[in-house]
Amino acid sequence: MKYTDLKIQTQREFPNNMRTQGFGWLARAGYVTRENELTELGKHFISHLQNLSKDSSFIFPLSFYTNESKSTFYFPLATGDVQLIHCESCKYTERIELAKFAKPVGATHTTSWHFESPLPIEKVETPNCNTIESLANFLNIAKEKTAKALMFTRTSDNQFVFVVVRGDMTLSEAKFKNAIGEVKLATAESISKSGAEAGYASPIGLKDALIVVDDLIPQSPNLVAGANEVDYHFINTNCGRDYQPEIVADLVLAKENDACVNCGNKLSSQYSIALKTKNEFHFENILLALAETYHDEKGLIFPKSFSLFDVYLMYVPGKTINTKEKADEIYNQLQSAGITVLFDDRDERAGVKFNDADLIGCPLRITVGEKALQNGMVELKIRKTNENQNLSLENLITKIIEIKNSL
Ligand SMILES: [Zn+2]
Repeated sequence: MKYTDLKIQTQREFPNNMRTQGFGWLARAGYVTRENELTELGKHFISHLQNLSKDSSFIFPLSFYTNESKSTFYFPLATGDVQLIHCESCKYTERIELAKFAKPVGATHTTSWHFESPLPIEKVETPNCNTIESLANFLNIAKEKTAKALMFTRTSDNQFVFVVVRGDMTLSEAKFKNAIGEVKLATAESISKSGAEAGYASPIGLKDALIVVDDLIPQSPNLVAGANEVDYHFINTNCGRDYQPEIVADLVLAKENDACVNCGNKLSSQYSIALKTKNEFHFENILLALAETYHDEKGLIFPKSFSLFDVYLMYVPGKTINTKEKADEIYNQLQSAGITVLFDDRDERAGVKFNDADLIGCPLRITVGEKALQNGMVELKIRKTNENQNLSLENLITKIIEIKNSL
């Protein structure tokens, strides 16, 4: 394809809104606009990637994380929109909202805590303790010794739903939704109708409430929970003795440094972009991942397995020889031989073309210049290694194919 037909616009500077190196280079090389919209060149690259994806292993040269069923691939990127939980040891990877982890049964500071026998329930005054934080401070206990209450209404049948997770945990809306369906926050009216008191709520003694607890709750004896009365809590509440849950499920978010559900190793958290979900590739994300992975200080360096073009062909305007005409001839020969070519057909200075060739990142660059032509040669540069050599016009095509295959 020809440079002028594609209306390629390279940029001398990185865009101000550069979120990542890869985006910056894509914008400078003219694959995307500064507003991150695909240009003509970018659209060609996306269709090229779509063709490559007929062999779904085509993205394997990129580094990525994959989930257990190997159906989803994620490329780690600090500005990505998907937060992952990842185990470096066994490679367990899952979106944070669905990630499993080995829950810390018992408190970290008293290892025998979960073997405690249930103690008698007792109502205590806890003035102004309507948050887990203030409650734990006031009673001088760890947050994991408290029960956190959340109240919802199930959308499908208006059922009032009372959820209990441990005070040191955070409800995962996605896991919760998987367990009981769509919900909305409970109204003050439905809360008071059930007999609960916001800020001081527990499932003890409620009417018409669907009680849903995280699976850690039945294993956590003697928790502090609300007394459903302002400024009062119960100490030593026990799930199964003081209230009966209808549903017990994994409902809470994993976080960094939690233990891996498979191997117990510490989990890490990592932002990423999805390259593939189920059977669908996300080609714009793949393009970005390529640019993040393959660039140097001059621009992009696409490996031949991904590159839209094998060769960047350019000419340096001559004084005695029509170098453009010669380049056009070579362009046709290369294309007939099945080599994909981006022909820089502009009457620009050599320096401008060299810079653009480096930015755009084809594996090979051929320069047709007067001096080499006088000796029946053209110049070849390998983008990745910066190696230059003169190639004879006589067996140019054979030689190019040979070099291309050796990359
Ligand atoms: Zn693991």
